[in-house]
Amino acid sequence: MNEGLEVMASYTWTPENPEFNHIKQKLLEYYVTMNYANSQFSINAFERVARSLFVPNGQRSHTYNDNPLPIGHGQTISAPHMAFMECDALDILPGDKVLEIGSGSGYHASIAAEMCAPSNVKPQNWEPLTRYYDDSVYEAYREKWGQVVTVERLEPLVKYARKNIEKAGYADRITVIHGDGTMGLEAHAPYDKILVTAAGPEVPEMLKRQLRVNGRLIIPVGSKNFYQELLLVKREAEDRWTQHNIGGVVFVPLIGKYGFSD
Ligand code: SAH
Repeated sequence: MNEGLEVMASYTWTPENPEFNHIKQKLLEYYVTMNYANSQFSINAFERVARSLFVPNGQRSHTYNDNPLPIGHGQTISAPHMAFMECDALDILPGDKVLEIGSGSGYHASIAAEMCAPSNVKPQNWEPLTRYYDDSVYEAYREKWGQVVTVERLEPLVKYARKNIEKAGYADRITVIHGDGTMGLEAHAPYDKILVTAAGPEVPEMLKRQLRVNGRLIIPVGSKNFYQELLLVKREAEDRWTQHNIGGVVFVPLIGKYGFSD
């Protein structure tokens, strides 16, 4: 356990460098104005997860510029608002089992982990940025942790994501797996929520089938490297799904059997 942390559970969590507090607060206010922020858990997660740990060395000062940043291998860490919006729209709740396709830096997965398995460890003298942090609420979820499984096709990024997730203190809630996520991950199905962070030509059928009834899936669908629509899919019943278009986005391509070809 780190020096200066109140011991509340047997795991660690690395808080964000306070030098970013002001800009984080401003971004959160903007997300609320834009109606991106509907969940107390997404707000808490954005506040807590130290994005600066997921950004490559030399780019730290750009951590909260609200745009994607290169992480090597032609890939990017999504813009902060995109990670926030996707997890907020999924309405990830404590206890959920979440599948992510496209681990990249591991940031998105850590936001999802903080939502489905909220940290109950609080550094002394840490002032939360928003009114959403409430010890008593989060204390109640300690027994009810969910988990995140995230799939990445590029091996160097599997290692990069694992390393960042470890540093940020989420290795106890996230499993990073090397593979083609367009087929989902049958071994751990069904999932309450599926988060796709790369754009495909269509919604992969296998992902829809691996959702629990009442589960949600979010995925950008459209053309390769150009314009896509962010779709929120809900499994309403065993054989019924509904789909809602959240808006236009630009993501790196989802490459694989049920995605684009390389
Ligand atoms: N969630 C990431 C965003 C990464 S960008 C973050 O927070 O940083 C999208 C990622 O999807 C890239 O790392 C890319 O390699 C990966 N990807 C593309 N197609 C994939 C597939 N079929 N299966 C798994 N990962 C894939």
